[in-house]
Amino acid sequence: MPSRREGCIFCDIVREGTYVAKSRGFVAIHDINPKADTHLLVIPERHVDTFREIGEFHASEAKHMLEFIAETAEKVGLTDYRVVTNVGPGAGQTVFHLHWHVLGSANKHDAEIASLTAVSEL
Ligand code: AMP
Ligand code: ZN
Repeated sequence: MPSRREGCIFCDIVREGTYVAKSRGFVAIHDINPKADTHLLVIPERHVDTFREIGEFHASEAKHMLEFIAETAEKVGLTDYRVVTNVGPGAGQTVFHLHWHVLGSANKHDAEIASLTAVSEL
């Protein structure tokens, strides 16, 4: 059973079980407030506050997490996209359960603008 943090919105989402995709300890959901045409969040089932604690994952788990991001992007039809994780409030992190934003825009021009403004947008 993965560790859960009381009061953590992403731990609650993991428990509720409505996903775009799921694989061995990781889930993908739609961001509730999308900042691109496609905006997914890839979340470990187990509570880890931020990317700073990446060392809490075994090498095989970390590899699987990255592969799952790529597989999920492919599953929803993305070929070109950005993968972002905000680390700490100063970088825009608002939910303190590690998550990866997967952002894809249908329009290449929009994608170029989004990549230039990514830090302030997220
Ligand atoms: P960050 O600001 O990097 O911590 O990203 C947190 C993201 O979680 C934001 O893009 C929010 O829109 C998103 N978010 C917050 N609550 C929910 C929720 N209940 N379901 C889906 N996405 C959420
Ligand atoms: Zn959590």
